[in-house]
Amino acid sequence: MATPMVSERRRLGPHTTVLVGSEHGKYPDGNTVLVEGSDGRLVVDPSLSARSEGLDVDRVVLTHTHEDHAAGVSGVAWRELSVHQADLAALRSMDDLMLLYGIPEAQWPEMSAMLSERFFFDGWPQATGLVDGDVIDLGGVTVWLIHAPGHTSGHSVYLVEPDGVLVLGDIDLTGFGPYYGDASSSLEDFETTLTKVREIEAAHYVTFHHKGVVEGHAAFAAAVDSYATAIRRRTDDLLALLAGGPQTFDQLLATGIVYRAGTRPPLFGESVERHSIERHLARLVADGTVATDGQQYWRR
Ligand SMILES: [Zn+2]
Repeated sequence: MATPMVSERRRLGPHTTVLVGSEHGKYPDGNTVLVEGSDGRLVVDPSLSARSEGLDVDRVVLTHTHEDHAAGVSGVAWRELSVHQADLAALRSMDDLMLLYGIPEAQWPEMSAMLSERFFFDGWPQATGLVDGDVIDLGGVTVWLIHAPGHTSGHSVYLVEPDGVLVLGDIDLTGFGPYYGDASSSLEDFETTLTKVREIEAAHYVTFHHKGVVEGHAAFAAAVDSYATAIRRRTDDLLALLAGGPQTFDQLLATGIVYRAGTRPPLFGESVERHSIERHLARLVADGTVATDGQQYWRR
């Protein structure tokens, strides 16, 4: 597979540039953000295409530890590499990344090999942890970490001021909807995060994939609302699967609520479906909409 290239350098302010990935940052690529101050330079989420840019920076920070967001780490010269504390173990070692995903251990060798070969993931033991409220001062421009968990437990967004840029990571505002299919994901946290980030006033909102840059708070708030409807849609899809009578978990898993028929990715797709269905089912059982005897699930 040829390494994708940056398609455009988009300036959002005096200190902030988006290195737009191929096909608007479509997976496996993404949109990398470069922030330059008088005292230092930093990149957020160096993507596959960022590898070809010859970047030399003081710091690399990630919105979270996922293979596509770290794909450029070994292609950029840096002195410090950081992510939120809750995602730090996964950035330091491949085995901890497997635990973050929660894929079955039998698939670890194949998954690890794929991540090394396609995403240059290598585990960086020297990586350091950040927490909510940490501010990185680059001289005339600051990068502020705001913990925004749900996608992973350490997922965070970064507010760049005075440029008014909010880097959203994988709150990606796509039609696919929020992704909470890893072992370390949380549906409840993702919902709380969406409510919280929706209130953040910025001039530009940058997603890692697809959507790219959303301009202005009104457009961002509308995009968040539309994005969140996928959660309700998955609940409705699950209830529709139960409309014909009781189903076992494996029957529900065979159809799925996240990936459309025939689009489930190899290696990790089934685990994503499993975690997502478990989370929706737990919620429906807790609120009394669905009952279970431990074998089957049915609508009350
Ligand atoms: Zn991600």
